[in-house]
Amino acid sequence: MNGETLFISDLHLDPGRPHITQLFLRFLRRRASAADAVYILGDLFEAWIGDDDDSIHSRQVVDGLRTLTDSGVATFVMHGNRDFMLGADFERRSGTRLLADREVVNLYSRPTLLMHGDLLCTDDTEYMKLRATVRDPRWQAGMLDKPLAERMRIAEGMRRQSAQSTAGKPESIMDVNAEAVASAMRNAHVRCLIHGHTHRPAIHDFLLDGEPAQRLVLGDWYEQGSVLCCNADGIALECLQPSMNEPL
Ligand code: MN
Repeated sequence: MNGETLFISDLHLDPGRPHITQLFLRFLRRRASAADAVYILGDLFEAWIGDDDDSIHSRQVVDGLRTLTDSGVATFVMHGNRDFMLGADFERRSGTRLLADREVVNLYSRPTLLMHGDLLCTDDTEYMKLRATVRDPRWQAGMLDKPLAERMRIAEGMRRQSAQSTAGKPESIMDVNAEAVASAMRNAHVRCLIHGHTHRPAIHDFLLDGEPAQRLVLGDWYEQGSVLCCNADGIALECLQPSMNEPL
């Protein structure tokens, strides 16, 4: 152990971007294997249509996580707006632990709130409505009753629709709402928040009710990897470059 906790999110792993999946698997084998703990704060997968998904790609990722957790690294996974169907079977196979939508952890004696980030984008009322639907256990049970191939088609349609409606939205609506951030942090009694989702990696220092506060935003893994490293001395946002010449 080197006293380091790693946070990542928004990898959007997809068989269509194999070099990013390889980058993630390499991250698990190397960097993550030396960490105290690894937190994946949502959208690990571009889509997750149920734990019975037995594609080669899903299996590769689950096996990679399993190797890490078997080696003793505590690994936590939060649902994102893409992979909200990750369930108990995924948890069992990967050896990870699924987190609630809001978790407070003690990060080197600093109470820290962890979220995916979509709940903070309250200005996007259209998305918040969709979220309420797809997070309803009855909706999810109905989905899981459908055959895998049909679920795949539905997920694809939802992604297309989401891309279309996102394209028509102003940038500001797609970012977090400052009041939602403040009230989430107040409710959790923290002065530090880590989230992803917005794909705007940054370390924001601000005042919350007159006290110094920090919001750490994780980056996406579209072109490269993005990791927030925390240890007793501080925090740093790091980039991981995919290696194009490593065999896929
Ligand atoms: Mn997201």
